[in-house]
Amino acid sequence: MADARPPAPAPDDPRAAELLATVDELEMLARFDRGSAEQRAEQTVADARELGLAEIEQRAQLIKADLLRRRGNVAEAGRIAQAVQRWATDDDSRRTLARSHFVLSAVFQELGDVSLGLEHAVRAVDVLGEDADPAMRVDHLTRLGDCLALNGDEAARDRYAQVQQVAEELGDVDRQLMVLNNRAYSETLFGDFDAALGFSTQLQAVATTSDVPLHIGRLDTVARALMGLGRLEEAEAALLPGLRPEALAASLDGDAGADFLLTLAEVRRRRGNVAGAQESLDESVRRCEEHGLTSIRVRARREQAELHAAGGDFRAAFEEHKLYSDEFMDLQSAQRDARARALQAMYETTEARRQSRRYRELSLRDPLTGLYNRRFLDEQLPRLLRRTAGAPEVSVALLDLDYFKLVNDTCSHEVGDEVLRTVAELLLDIEDGSGSFAARMGGEEFLLVLVGSDPRAAARRLETLRGDVADHPWSELTGALAITVSIGATSTAGLPEPTALELFGRADAHLYRAKRQGRDRVVSDLT
Ligand code: GH3
Ligand code: MG
Ligand code: MG
Repeated sequence: MADARPPAPAPDDPRAAELLATVDELEMLARFDRGSAEQRAEQTVADARELGLAEIEQRAQLIKADLLRRRGNVAEAGRIAQAVQRWATDDDSRRTLARSHFVLSAVFQELGDVSLGLEHAVRAVDVLGEDADPAMRVDHLTRLGDCLALNGDEAARDRYAQVQQVAEELGDVDRQLMVLNNRAYSETLFGDFDAALGFSTQLQAVATTSDVPLHIGRLDTVARALMGLGRLEEAEAALLPGLRPEALAASLDGDAGADFLLTLAEVRRRRGNVAGAQESLDESVRRCEEHGLTSIRVRARREQAELHAAGGDFRAAFEEHKLYSDEFMDLQSAQRDARARALQAMYETTEARRQSRRYRELSLRDPLTGLYNRRFLDEQLPRLLRRTAGAPEVSVALLDLDYFKLVNDTCSHEVGDEVLRTVAELLLDIEDGSGSFAARMGGEEFLLVLVGSDPRAAARRLETLRGDVADHPWSELTGALAITVSIGATSTAGLPEPTALELFGRADAHLYRAKRQGRDRVVSDLT
């Protein structure tokens, strides 16, 4: 095989093992180290390609993409990550697919599309699966928390709590610091400065116990929490360690300390130290100009206006504020243009467009059963109701497995999952091209939307489905345990302006009755 083309290495080829080790290491390191990681990723891409090791090559491409993104080349990062995603989908490489979602989530977040960022973050966690390397799971769950927080969704809190626990169990200090920092920051977004301070305090405690200095971005988080509570003196004290020249120079986020110095200026001003604030602001501006940091520069103008006002020079404050508003508008339109260009570059081929539809479709699916998920339902049902507007009638049925907890308890959770998948398959029977569909609401609860048949026909259909579930040969899976479902159903018949909520409510009331009357039955008002 030595001269085969392209050379396919034997599984025990030492070079293959070495490349695999490198890419494993880089995936974990890329967050911390930019300098050499970049070169090594590039080299790994080339070596893996030469050896015909496609998966390693794609993984190294993703590392490269993520590093490019951090350097500000978001469009190129997105383009590479999408190409990797196509490869991973076609080649069924789950891990690489999960990583590509992870990188794309950051790309979209940076492009200001937080909802697409969230979609990718959800997929990054789902696809990675629970059996993945725990450190990587921490990274993916943290990003999901970040995206939820940026979307203003307080579900971020549960995610962070979960992930913090994993990081603690791992004894992984870097990741604990990361999660605590992001938790504190997200609480400032939610406006809960007490909670932000709580996490900031934990952040400092972990750093002290582990003897790791907090870098300036994290000191900034701590100070912002304190400032939000009006505890200005402590806020300034918290920033102090960042003023050492080596700390300022070690800024990881590429903002060269300018952001940090801006926060310091604000604290000093609010404490009445106008001269000290001006000094810090001047240094921040100098760094903005040296490194071309436009958006921090604009925020510095607003701070300058405040400072002039604090010093009693309202004329200068007004002039500076005018500059601030003008530049702020310019910046916004420049950012809009840059986003548009980046997005265009990412979607330049029709192939990519086709794929992106496919990923969108995937995000509307429940990963366990492959049925549509709640999100799809929330989008689709109102649309359907608007479109049909009473004619033809739409029937909606809520279906809940009976005594399902018993399946988990007497068999196992895995068997429970398999039961859910099998029920889902039986439900798919209603997707006959009429627009009817089945969705998983969550847990062991499903929703069926039936269009194109009158309520009485829908009732017969549901009765058949109930029978199909009851008659399925379950014993192979669950032994003596029978599997049945209860169904509550209603329709738009007779409702002038039916809403999804109204239909859910009525179906739910019928479902409750079906349970009360002994389960394994359909209760409806479908006549
Ligand atoms: P009832 O007839 O009143 O509906 O009883 P039940 O036991 O089905 O209802 P309950 O709501 O008490 O329990 C639902 C159970 O479903 C609890 C939970 O463990 C289980 N469950 C929820 N989601 C999943 C899942 O994704 N996989 C598995 N295996 N079990 C799940
Ligand atoms: Mg149930
Ligand atoms: Mg239930």
